[in-house]
Amino acid sequence: MSYVSNVLEQVKEKNADQPQFIQAVTEVLTTLEPFIEKNPQYEAAGILERLTEPERQIIFRVPWVDDNGKVHVNRGFRVQFNSAIGPYKGGLRLHPSVNLGIIKFLGFEQILKNSLTGLPIGGGKGGSDFDPKGKSDREIMAFCQSFMTELFRHIGPDTDVPAGDIGVGGREIGYLYGQYKRIRNAYESVLTGKGLTYGGSLVRTEATGYGLLYFVNAMLRHLGETIQGKTVVISGAGNVAIYAAVKATQLGAKVVTMSDSNGWVYDAEGIDIAAIKEIKEANRQRLTEYKKYRPNSEYHEGKGVWSVPCDIALPCATQNELDQADAEMLVKNGVMLVAEGANMPSTLEATDVFLKNKIPFGPAKAANAGGVAISAIEMSQNSLRLSWTFEDVDARLQDIMENIHKNATAAAEEYGFGYNLVAGANIAGFKKVADTMLAQGIV
Ligand code: GLU
Repeated sequence: MSYVSNVLEQVKEKNADQPQFIQAVTEVLTTLEPFIEKNPQYEAAGILERLTEPERQIIFRVPWVDDNGKVHVNRGFRVQFNSAIGPYKGGLRLHPSVNLGIIKFLGFEQILKNSLTGLPIGGGKGGSDFDPKGKSDREIMAFCQSFMTELFRHIGPDTDVPAGDIGVGGREIGYLYGQYKRIRNAYESVLTGKGLTYGGSLVRTEATGYGLLYFVNAMLRHLGETIQGKTVVISGAGNVAIYAAVKATQLGAKVVTMSDSNGWVYDAEGIDIAAIKEIKEANRQRLTEYKKYRPNSEYHEGKGVWSVPCDIALPCATQNELDQADAEMLVKNGVMLVAEGANMPSTLEATDVFLKNKIPFGPAKAANAGGVAISAIEMSQNSLRLSWTFEDVDARLQDIMENIHKNATAAAEEYGFGYNLVAGANIAGFKKVADTMLAQGIV
C-alpha cells in the first residue's frame, strides 16, 4: 500500500465517527499522491500522520441562562490543528450541527487555505452546537460571555486568533471581545472581524464574498472570458453570499438566486441586494420576506437553486449542499464555472462530476480564502496600531486572490493536473506547511 493510502486508512479507522473530516482528508490526500510520491522526505518525517492529527483539541462546557431563567448547557470546541507557519487561525461556528468532526474538517481545511494566502497563519477552528436562531440579544451575549470565559485561557494574539464563521458575525465578535478584554485586562488582537472602532479592518466584512469574485475573475481571465453579462446562481444568504452577490453585480453579472435553510428565491431581474441586506443583516428574518420587496420574484420551499440554468454557480451556504445530482444538473444546464464560497459545499462525488466534465472549478480553500486573508491583514494593522484605507485593503485582497489563483494553477500544471485547481490548491498549500514542518523537526 502506498504511503498516502496507508495514512488515509489510518485516518478513516481512527475517526470513523467523523464523516466530514474523513471527506476533507480524502480529497486532500488523494490529490497529493503524485506530489508525495516524488518527495519521499515527507514520508520519512511522518508529515501526513502529523498533518491529520490536531496539535490540540479542546472541548468544554458552556452553561448559560435564557430570558426565562432556564439554564442551558452547550458544548464548546476549539481545535488547534497546525501552527507550523503561524498562530492558529480560523473562525468560530455556532450552529446546532456542530460537533468535533465538523470542527476538525473545518480546521484541517483552514491549514492549507491559510497557507495559500501567503500570510503567516496556522490552522484552527472552533464553535459550539448553540443555535443562535430566535435568541434574544441578551441570550446571545450570555452565551458568548460564557463561551469566552473558558476559551480565553487557550487563545492569545500570538497563540490562536479566532474569528467568525456561520452564526458568528460582528455582534458576536463584539461580545466575545468584551469578555476577553475584561478577563485578561489587555487590549489585544485576539479576535478578527472586530468592529471598526476597536481594531477591526475595513473590507473584513466583505472580504470572503469579494475575494470569491476576484478569484472567479482570475479564473475567467485564464479562460479568456469576462464576467460581464453572466448569469450567476448563489446559494446562501449569509455574510459570504451577500458580498459575493454585491461584487458579482458590481462587476456586471446578474445574480438570480439566494437561499436560506428554509427555501430559496429566484429573481429573474437580478437579486435586489439592498432588500436581502435589510432582511438578513438588519432584521434577521427569513427569505420569505423577499417577495414583499420584489413581487415578481419566486419563493420556493426547500432546496433548489442548482436547478436554475446559469453560467456561474457559487455555493455559499454550507458543507455538502451540492451533491452529485446537483452537479449533473448544473452541467446539463450548461454551467461554465463553479467556485466555492462556503467550506466544502460540494460532495466528493459532485466535485468529480465537475472535474470529469472539465468544468473550471475553484475549490473553497482557494476561492474563499479572502476572509481569513483579511483577518491576517487585520492582525497586521493591530500590530502596527494603524488602520489602512478601504482602497488599500481591497487592493491587497485582489493581489492575494490573484496570487492564490496563480500559485494553484502553476502547481497543478507542474504535477500534470492541467487546470485542476483542486489538485493545484492542495499541492501549493501543502508544500509550504510540509516544508516548514520538516524545518522545525518532529514536533
Ligand atoms: N471562517 C472563515 C473561514 O472559513 C474566516 C476565518 C478567519 O477569518 O479567521 O475561512
